[in-house]
Amino acid sequence: MFTRIKRILRQFFRKSRTINNEPLNKVSLIVIVLIDIFILINVFTGLNDISRWHISPSQAYSCYSQWQSYRTQTNQDKDYQIIKAALNYNPYNQFNEEQRYQQAESNHLGKVSPICLNYAQSKDKINNTKNQQIAKSIDQKQRNINNFKGKNRNIRAQYDSTLLEKIAGQPSEQSINQVSAAKAKQELDKNNRNISALEKQVSNLKTELTNKPESVSFINFLQDNNQFNIVNQGHKRASFWYPTIQLAFQSLFLVPLIIIALSVHRFAVGRGYGLITLMSWHLLVIFFIPLIIKVFEFLQIGAIFQFIFNIIKALFGGLIFLVSYVYILLIPFIGFVIIKFFQKIVFNPQLQATNRFQKLRCIKCAKKIRHGDTYCPHCGYYQYVECPNCHNLTYKHLSYCKHCGHSQDI
Ligand SMILES: [Zn+2]
Ligand SMILES: [Zn+2]
Repeated sequence: MFTRIKRILRQFFRKSRTINNEPLNKVSLIVIVLIDIFILINVFTGLNDISRWHISPSQAYSCYSQWQSYRTQTNQDKDYQIIKAALNYNPYNQFNEEQRYQQAESNHLGKVSPICLNYAQSKDKINNTKNQQIAKSIDQKQRNINNFKGKNRNIRAQYDSTLLEKIAGQPSEQSINQVSAAKAKQELDKNNRNISALEKQVSNLKTELTNKPESVSFINFLQDNNQFNIVNQGHKRASFWYPTIQLAFQSLFLVPLIIIALSVHRFAVGRGYGLITLMSWHLLVIFFIPLIIKVFEFLQIGAIFQFIFNIIKALFGGLIFLVSYVYILLIPFIGFVIIKFFQKIVFNPQLQATNRFQKLRCIKCAKKIRHGDTYCPHCGYYQYVECPNCHNLTYKHLSYCKHCGHSQDI
């Protein structure tokens, strides 16, 4: 087994840098490596683009995260907070919420959830100039409150240091603080009165905003458990299948490329076109690398992981480490399949010899020879082998002896 793997690896690297078994000159090698890099970058860009072709769960259920966080919040102010989030007074924003939700559908496969579109419609109704004015004045008053609070903090800090200076017995004309205790108290009281008046106004404005009919209907919509459960289920389902859909699209991108590279490679090998053999071989390897990476990525997050995880949970309960066991067994199996694929289809000397023999070409260098030529006149390769059964000469690498039909163990 080990020597076989070694042989395959040797073949792999020899194939990557030789034409007709002659080593490649350095300039050609650099050109081919540059082509490889360029194509690899393009393959990954293409994969990235195609994986975003299908609408993502966060695009299909764009209302989900906001709605979810509204439902988990417990503070009193959450109704006002979500209404304020609906108010958007950017004059350069030419699309409303519903249009922005719908934009995800253009140039993408899949549909945006109709409930989320209703959500956006309801939100857009709140976003009118009157409500925007209210929100603006709430913000303004809130800023004033903060201003007064800041002033009060300053006064208290100065008052404390004035007290300390008094205790230390400093004469009052040397004090850095000019504010006397009585004046400070007066100022504090005045500011506090202002703050409480402003706070009352703010709370009235907030109530006004949340009691508007459009706000009430939005809040009622948010509190509708049935609607939310539909969105929640849909989002869950979409998140579960999204990696699988992405892998399917990525395979759709790679598989035709692999098939084309493989058939060009086999054609070139059969005809003995050295340079095309080498380049198609490189392309084949390049198309395989991302496919393997994507499959491994998918195994970690996708539906297969969930599937194995659920089976193990059902069979063995808490023994979740068994998932790693399954992977440890599964990944060598995938490797085995890949190696078998290359052995059977790409590196198969028997298949290659059969093709060349049928076309009267040298088994080694694929150049035309005449029927009955024992040695290739181009590369000097001996074309025959002695049959172990009848001891006549028969073709190398072919399955049966041409004289007695005895199976040749290749
Ligand atoms: Zn030859
Ligand atoms: Zn024989």
